[in-house]
Amino acid sequence: MIIIRTIPELKEAIGKVRSMGRTIGFVPTMGYLHQGHLSLVKAAVKECDFVAVSIYVNPIQFGVGEDFESYPRDLTADAQMCQQEGVDLIFSPGDQDMYPGGYASFVEVEQLTQGLCGRGRPGHFRGVTTVVTKLFNLLEPDIAYFGQKDAQQALVLKKMVEDLNMNLTLKIMPTLRDEDGLAMSSRNVYLSLEEREAALVLFKSLTRAEEMIQGGVRKASKISGAMKEIIAGEPSAHLEYIEIVDTHKLDTMEELEAEVLIALAVRVGQTRLIDNMIVEV
Ligand code: AMP
Repeated sequence: MIIIRTIPELKEAIGKVRSMGRTIGFVPTMGYLHQGHLSLVKAAVKECDFVAVSIYVNPIQFGVGEDFESYPRDLTADAQMCQQEGVDLIFSPGDQDMYPGGYASFVEVEQLTQGLCGRGRPGHFRGVTTVVTKLFNLLEPDIAYFGQKDAQQALVLKKMVEDLNMNLTLKIMPTLRDEDGLAMSSRNVYLSLEEREAALVLFKSLTRAEEMIQGGVRKASKISGAMKEIIAGEPSAHLEYIEIVDTHKLDTMEELEAEVLIALAVRVGQTRLIDNMIVEV
């Protein structure tokens, strides 16, 4: 496995892989890897000849006052895990490599980025689509792997790939959870023991919503009301949003039908956590 820090070195390495006709699988991450990330890596290793992982905390997807500076970083541990999984290349550039002075180009997906996390994090998805486009151009993957944990991000990136005729396939992999249901996230490291317990309200409220739908409830307000009650029962948890939307356009639904995405963002102490579930109606 090689660790590459600069763009010229990366271009040379990818050129060689391409000239050998090998398929490239790519897993973009911000590092501080956990089993959720590694599930994407495992899929890539299984399906592609050559696997690249990027580890880059992308400054332009963080807003003012968000956790860019404190975001956990540990390249040594990440590299060890990648090596064990059979990754061929890690790309971990610096900010000057990605956004040198005078940088002026951005990619923006409209509509899908307006609701859910887009409302509370203006500019976030513009940062994501821009960095992912740059990484796709640099790594030239055949298949790129993303997690359903970031459901809106996955839809936005699929739309970008389709609209801009990007020549690759995106695969969206299921959310990996700890045994008690908490979705794995690099940000879980911020949680104290008490907050870790309180953070279970995300999964508990999603599970309750699923049960209600399976029990025949079709009114979105009734379901979100029950979810809010669960979250309100945990003093250190503060709800940012609950959205019950269709799984393609993210349009709000009042009467549920077909298949719905239930997504929420909750602040537990200082830590902002997101989770979601797709439920068949
Ligand atoms: P991040 O490092 O948080 O930007 O995540 C990198 C990729 O891993 C994204 O495609 C995420 O959706 C995915 N991911 C993060 N957490 C999980 C999880 N618990 N299960 C599956 N995929 C995940």
